[in-house]
Amino acid sequence: MIKIKEKFPLKSYNSLLINKKARYFCEIDSLEDCKEVLEFIKLKGLKTLILGEGTNIVLTKDFSGLVIKNNIKGISNDGNKVFLGAGENWHQSVLWTLNNDLFGLENLALIPGTVGAAPVQNIGAYGVELSSVMESIEAININNGDIVSLTNEECKFGYRESIFKRKNNSYLITSITLNLHNEQKVSTDYQSLIAYLLKDDIDPEKATPFQVCRAVVSIRNTILPDPQDKPNVGSFFKNLIVTEDIFSNLQKKLKKIPFFKLPHGKYKIPTAYLIEEAGWKGYEENTVSISKDHALVLISSKNSNIEDILSLSSKISEDIKNKYDITLEIEPTVY
Ligand code: NAP
Repeated sequence: MIKIKEKFPLKSYNSLLINKKARYFCEIDSLEDCKEVLEFIKLKGLKTLILGEGTNIVLTKDFSGLVIKNNIKGISNDGNKVFLGAGENWHQSVLWTLNNDLFGLENLALIPGTVGAAPVQNIGAYGVELSSVMESIEAININNGDIVSLTNEECKFGYRESIFKRKNNSYLITSITLNLHNEQKVSTDYQSLIAYLLKDDIDPEKATPFQVCRAVVSIRNTILPDPQDKPNVGSFFKNLIVTEDIFSNLQKKLKKIPFFKLPHGKYKIPTAYLIEEAGWKGYEENTVSISKDHALVLISSKNSNIEDILSLSSKISEDIKNKYDITLEIEPTVY
């Protein structure tokens, strides 16, 4: 039986510790709970906001509908197919797959958040995106109560994008099905990963999934602040995917700009480089700062408010626009 709470403070339910309230709040543990929630939503005519661990959300205002914290658990496999409940912790799920000799998630180790949040922004790290192993997503359509299974294609995955991130999303993800493998092959194309493995005398070509997992965990622990100690949502801004013309203009201003050539004449540029070049790395203002270790990570504090966060984010965006004529896009979901 679900418990609906009213005027519920969300501060400890989002990793930036933003102090906003939900008109209604409940936690769900099962499909049965979902059915009860749907009846409540219908009865009151509420809009909904689904939360996992709140590690990729920026709450700009109180939420006038129902916030649903998704705790639906479950981890199992049938051969190479892995079934994960949306409320499972992502990193613990990655470790479970490795311990069961199921590989493919090692590059995605230590990404904060839940399984259900992972497809929303199509999490990616060190050259692997969740979409590359996603078989299907089981969800409930909040509008009509239908239980659906969406194929990889139907999720319309893109760079940190999916249908679940769009404004009119009406799906409550209950579980995901992944297609992993049991071979010792790994993806070690990223320079930071290669350098770390070489430092440990591991040939990147011959690294095992466990070695890659350990390397990724160590690198992330070095450059990315733990949200438990320093409240953050990982990358605050998206990396840039630009046309050749825009890239050439940028290269005239920043001779050493790193870039990655993509198909269809596009270029990926690390936004962290622009922010660092513009002098924002380590900058502090009011109750927020930009990490000294990673220019994409905005760090808040127990006393931060959304105004301080948005003010610093806008100043950085305006400065990057003025200096490089580039418009930054916030990566986490903004409500
Ligand atoms: P990095 O290794 O310093 O590289 C900087 C950027 O260049 C990365 O963001 C990456 O893009 C891109 N890049 C590097 N090597 C590439 C290659 N061989 N081909 C294509 N693109 C390449 O990056 P980092 O900031 O330390 O992050 C390491 C990984 O963790 C990245 O994959 C990053 O996305 C991921 N990460 C994710 C979050 C998050 O909150 N979502 C936060 C921090 C880091 P991509 O970002 O597209 O991989």
